Amino acid sequence: MYFGVDIGGTSIKVGAFNSGKLVEKWSIKLDFKTAEELVDAIYNSIISRYDSIGGIGIGCPGFIIDNFISSSANIHFLNQTNLVTLFHLKTNAKIRLVNDANAAALGEAFFCGYKNLLFVTLGTGVGGGLVINGNILEGAHGAGMELGHLHNDDVYNFTCGCGKKGCVETLSSATGLVNIAKSLVGKYKTSVKEPFNAKRIFDGAKENDELATKAVEIFSDYLGKALANACILVDPGIVMLGGGVSNAGEFLLVRVQEAFKKYALPIIQDTKIILAALGDEAGMYGAYYLVANKED
Ligand SMILES: [Zn+2]
Repeated sequence: MYFGVDIGGTSIKVGAFNSGKLVEKWSIKLDFKTAEELVDAIYNSIISRYDSIGGIGIGCPGFIIDNFISSSANIHFLNQTNLVTLFHLKTNAKIRLVNDANAAALGEAFFCGYKNLLFVTLGTGVGGGLVINGNILEGAHGAGMELGHLHNDDVYNFTCGCGKKGCVETLSSATGLVNIAKSLVGKYKTSVKEPFNAKRIFDGAKENDELATKAVEIFSDYLGKALANACILVDPGIVMLGGGVSNAGEFLLVRVQEAFKKYALPIIQDTKIILAALGDEAGMYGAYYLVANKED
């Protein structure tokens, strides 16, 4: 049995896979102070359910290269750790570690049968993962296709969590959409109620609220520009949008596609932009796929 683990901000999802199929999943509350405690909890939860471990793949937030977490902004105690070494104190099974957005990208590509895929998560921030010929791109620093921090705006100049201004995620995330809406207050005849959140703004835009419509238009325009910039560099042919904001569905997709065409070179304008298929299971699938199918 192989296992795909997805470490998130508040919980850890674990999936047991048999021949490519997810057969059982469970979650563990993220309530630890050290990497050792985290590894213990994952290992114990698996071994209490299954006798043999073929391999464990793990997706984790942070800059990761060759199984080493150089920094994890969300889970500080994982900075400068090698979870594989810690797991190998307990088991000889194959262990692989990968960035969480890269894991989700690989999971979606594997599940949907795409060899090439640019996967973008639109949540509180913006994450990106690139699969080319079935392989993820980690890059020299583990920062490959960190689309959220591509510089994309010199008009709004919102400050990003990374400390820079104008990153993609300052506009094209749930937080970004709220930032845009706040900047438009008082300029339109109709406005959705404050406090703003992404769902309220999208719902308002769907009902032709003026402020919400403008906010979604700006959001989509900047996202389309960022995707066009990314696609001209790597030409994946398919872009998949996931994360909470992608729940806006076709309404979002149509607007992003239109903006993409506006900015993209004609040769790549037929790039497909689609919605994610696996929801919050993508990371588990990708982590599993990495450990079960890839050579070291
Ligand atoms: Zn940034």
